[in-house]
Amino acid sequence: MSKEYFIVNKIDNGIFHIFDPAQVGCTLILGKEKALLFDTCYGIGDLKTTIRTITDLPITVVNSHGHIDHIGGNWQFDEAYIHSDDLSLAQQHSSQQIRKQFITSFKEQSVPPNFSVDKFIEREIMPLLPIKDGHIFDLGQRQLQVIHTPGHSQGCISLLDKKTGTLLSADIVMPMVWMFFPESTSIKTLVNSLRKLKDLSFDKIVSSHFQNTFPKNLIDKLILCANNIDVNKSKSYSIPFIDQEIQKGALIYAEGREPVVSSDYVAIIFNESKLQEDRT
Ligand SMILES: [Zn+2]
Repeated sequence: MSKEYFIVNKIDNGIFHIFDPAQVGCTLILGKEKALLFDTCYGIGDLKTTIRTITDLPITVVNSHGHIDHIGGNWQFDEAYIHSDDLSLAQQHSSQQIRKQFITSFKEQSVPPNFSVDKFIEREIMPLLPIKDGHIFDLGQRQLQVIHTPGHSQGCISLLDKKTGTLLSADIVMPMVWMFFPESTSIKTLVNSLRKLKDLSFDKIVSSHFQNTFPKNLIDKLILCANNIDVNKSKSYSIPFIDQEIQKGALIYAEGREPVVSSDYVAIIFNESKLQEDRT
């Protein structure tokens, strides 16, 4: 039953993108001795059972950043690695208050038949282990490199698999980047992160909220879009399931043809404070 909750797509040799119908994905990468799970989605479906249909290898969990849709399923595993700059955000997003807020705004969405809202709210918080830029996860004949890519949040990371030329970029590289959160950095810091990724060698990008992969040139489009941001050409923007207070003053600046599905469409959602430089 739980097996069918997730949609599993094979991206490349030993790389599986596991998509939660709640519109977020996580990625399983297999080495010779270990498997690495990048993110754990919301924690609604039985992710572990789905993974066990793919591999019996021991699993190392790594969170791309601290938002609930990336760490919510950590409860099924012993511990998870996360960049040290997102430790407090992850603690905040593991709280009963945020879980309750999320599941209440989400109740129309289909959940597995045995799903308990109370259990979801009361779930145990698993230990988080801090990591930094450059950390290497050695899975046995496959090494994944951690790249610190602050932007969407301070502690966002991407993972590079040189073996298949795959970048796992979570919420940093996708056609619509959300930069309006209090935990988001300045647009300038986002551009620096995108430039850092552009210098690496890979040909496809796996991002969290899409089932398909993207070519590397999405990064160029995003850098251009971020550099061209013009408040006068931006529109106000609101997202129904996010706290109104958090998204106050959110604007969208878009380039390329609409709608979102067009291949040259990119957009950045921000607020005016993000146009100032970060204080370091
Ligand atoms: Zn996020």
